[in-house]
Amino acid sequence: MKLNLRIEKEDENKCEYCGKPLTPENVYSREMKGKVHYFCCSHCADAFEKKENESHCC
Ligand SMILES: [Zn+2]
Repeated sequence: MKLNLRIEKEDENKCEYCGKPLTPENVYSREMKGKVHYFCCSHCADAFEKKENESHCC
């Protein structure tokens, strides 16, 4: 049984919405549903959150 409890470091260095590489000085993190997501800007965080909410619609 394989459980990946650690997030791959490379995933942390990319905007989860647009895939743009992130630098430690230029990273925008937002907690959603108890999990921290990383983005290049608040705009991507907003868009990602909107997409997540839409995909969970019944
Ligand atoms: Zn982005």
